[in-house]
Amino acid sequence: MSRVWNFSAGPAALPQSVLEQAQRELLDWNGSGASVMELSHRGKLFMGLAAQAEADIRELADIPADYAVLFLQGGATQHFAQIPMNLAGEGDTADYIVTGHWGEKAASEAAPYVKVKIAAHSRDEGYMRLPERASWQLDPRAAFVHYTPNETIHGVEFHAVPEVGDVPLVADMSSDIFSRPLDVRRFGLIYAGAQKNIGPSGLVVMIVRRDLLDRATRPMAKIFRYAEHAANDSMLNTPNTWGWYLAGLTFKWMKEQGGLAAMATHNDAKAAKLYEAIDSSNGYYRNPVALESRSRMNVPFTLHDSKLDPLFLQESEAAGLLALKGHKAVGGMRASLYNAVPLDAVKALVAFMQDFAARHG
Ligand code: PMP
Repeated sequence: MSRVWNFSAGPAALPQSVLEQAQRELLDWNGSGASVMELSHRGKLFMGLAAQAEADIRELADIPADYAVLFLQGGATQHFAQIPMNLAGEGDTADYIVTGHWGEKAASEAAPYVKVKIAAHSRDEGYMRLPERASWQLDPRAAFVHYTPNETIHGVEFHAVPEVGDVPLVADMSSDIFSRPLDVRRFGLIYAGAQKNIGPSGLVVMIVRRDLLDRATRPMAKIFRYAEHAANDSMLNTPNTWGWYLAGLTFKWMKEQGGLAAMATHNDAKAAKLYEAIDSSNGYYRNPVALESRSRMNVPFTLHDSKLDPLFLQESEAAGLLALKGHKAVGGMRASLYNAVPLDAVKALVAFMQDFAARHG
């Protein structure tokens, strides 16, 4: 068996020790004689797992008691629509800060449920920098402010939580959750598809201030109502038990590594190494994002001659470097450096990039 260095944007690399534990326990989990996937979510064993995962995520991210933690389904995309259904009433407006592809999607999917106001965007700059905070047109009466702290495709990231006054701040943290310490109190609602920094796809982790759960006044089925999920400990219907289990293992892994501060140190070192290699390549490789807005999680880069792209991809794959092809919206390459990607993976990538440049100069 040979494992490659995995730079996938998502579903993405998981910690090797988590996968090994899951493998060891696959046929007989926790002495049950069955796989965790084969057990009732209402059984004592699984309920214990669910409670432990919640305790671990609360400790990991220092989540206050007045915030609920939900383990949901539907991907971040479903919650683009479900968040305004729950947080806004008829006739309300919401402010959207659009700094890339996913912020655009969030705003357009929200439009049937709330009056979407684009309070700031950087579309005219090709999403290569963040809009100056002073230019944001925030409405103090808005139901919430939505933003995307890390844009997975464009590789732009907020390095501080924006100040938005008393309006609840909603963050799509799909591609940067738990990559650094998190001050939950700054947010009304945080949500993330699990498939980058938490576990497999098919699971969404949401952290929501409990008072906001009472806002959902419009008629809707229970399954759409976050308050119902909270009241039922995310077991309103059958949850993604396998995803919940792997998320729990990943929370424990992050704690063992030293928690979110250790994740930040590790992620900063990886990103610094790759950006340094790009910036010192005399234009052979290029990252177009403004220095202060560069993402630590997703690093898009182009080659000086795009005709070399297919060769770069072919050779990198042969060298055991997986999934470097950039998103079609921006072209070129992209290396995603989530928590579970080791520094050695970045070292291997940088060595390959330097060797490639020397051979195809
Ligand atoms: N938001 C962000 C920031 C993402 O990176 C992605 C997926 N790459 C999504 C939302 C959409 O997630 P999903 O496919 O789980 O709906």
